[in-house]
Amino acid sequence: MLQSFRFLNVCAVALLIASCAINAPTFPAGEVCETPSFSVIDSFSGARRGTCTVLSDDHVRLDILPESSGKINDSPWYAFKLSSNSPMTAKISLRYHGGHHRYWPKVSNDGLRWTRLGSQHVVSSANGRRAEFDVDLTGEPVWVAAQELITPTIYEAWYRKTAKLADMPVMVLGDSTAGLPIHVFDNNAASKEVLFLVGRQHPPEVSGAFAFFAFTETVLGDSDLAQRFRDRFRIIAIPLLNPDGVIGGNWRNNLGGVDLNRDWGLFTQPETQLMAELLENLDKGDSKIRMFLDFHSTKENVFYALPDVTHPPDFIATWLEAARPRITGYPFELTQGPATSMAIAKNYIYERYGIPAATFEVGDETDRGIARAAAKVFAEELMQLMLDQEY
Ligand SMILES: [Zn+2]
Repeated sequence: MLQSFRFLNVCAVALLIASCAINAPTFPAGEVCETPSFSVIDSFSGARRGTCTVLSDDHVRLDILPESSGKINDSPWYAFKLSSNSPMTAKISLRYHGGHHRYWPKVSNDGLRWTRLGSQHVVSSANGRRAEFDVDLTGEPVWVAAQELITPTIYEAWYRKTAKLADMPVMVLGDSTAGLPIHVFDNNAASKEVLFLVGRQHPPEVSGAFAFFAFTETVLGDSDLAQRFRDRFRIIAIPLLNPDGVIGGNWRNNLGGVDLNRDWGLFTQPETQLMAELLENLDKGDSKIRMFLDFHSTKENVFYALPDVTHPPDFIATWLEAARPRITGYPFELTQGPATSMAIAKNYIYERYGIPAATFEVGDETDRGIARAAAKVFAEELMQLMLDQEY
């Protein structure tokens, strides 16, 4: 992906004579960035553009910064909208602060349907600190983002669709730091055996959200297997634990500046406190979580789990190997290792209950249709395996 990189714009040359930087108009984050031929807008849910510097009529530089100072996970999110009155090609330079170019730019004409920007358009510097690409504008707005914009509004639409599919309402578990609702699907409170699913602790991890959607649609679906599964098991599915972070276009944290997946057990944040209360209530009701899955994204498709799950033994490996022959085009690994931090959700759940718990990681650029198809198979095989257990 990395290619040699050259800034061949007028301003870079002009910098040599120390004039352009002084005169280049700059627009702080939140202010529409106007060039003579197009504008760059960041006033929408999920946007992150940073300071915009106009380098020429058709060229801007965006300084992409994380939501917090200090060390942060290297997942630089960007999202902005381009607008021009007439057909043109806009040149965008991204300059990353505190991270490296990671997400291939995606574009959309309506903010809903996305395509990857053509490879001929994108170059990044060898050290990953800069990226540059062209976007063709035809007079209509174009959204550009690190990943598809799967914001709380999109989740709301998915809740409605899934509630209809599953013939059950989505409920509100509680509020985020900003007071936004955190939703849950919960099918069968009478059952003492629980499948627990969590999504989107980390805002940019959109490929994991696609897997979460397909997985949850499968376990809440109307297949015979899913119906038998729900006759026995309670499903608690929390699709979006960090809505504030998603809306803010955060790289990693919630509104309180905390990585929620380093806060389990500590439970310092409103979002994780909801998890603590939920677990407490399950314990009080003598319920047993049988399986815990936390959906994320990373560079590859991988499942992270603990090495020595005791009850039942080898459950996760058995599950994944049952799914493997049915899955094509989705290479994946199971990485089992000792817990590096107790405050990661899967580690905390494992330590507290000794049950199978895994982080379901989908590759950043994994084909979304293939990720969805794989997640469906993983869900089917998990339901079958859990039904086979006597515990
Ligand atoms: Zn993550």
